[in-house]
Amino acid sequence: MEYAKSQKLKEDWGNKPCDHPRFEKVYSTGAFLLNYSCTTCGADFTISQKLKIEEARKGMQI
Ligand SMILES: [Zn+2]
Repeated sequence: MEYAKSQKLKEDWGNKPCDHPRFEKVYSTGAFLLNYSCTTCGADFTISQKLKIEEARKGMQI
């Protein structure tokens, strides 16, 4: 998603809790940035944070 959109999501979502069901790569005017945002709340994650959350989730499914 666009960086501006992730900022907007963050504003709209506020401080409500979110379990970050889905991530999207954030980019700005065509250039990929090295981070991800939650498509629900707009919170920012680095690639390693995203991988950790996904791994933890996999572990919980077993
Ligand atoms: Zn979230």
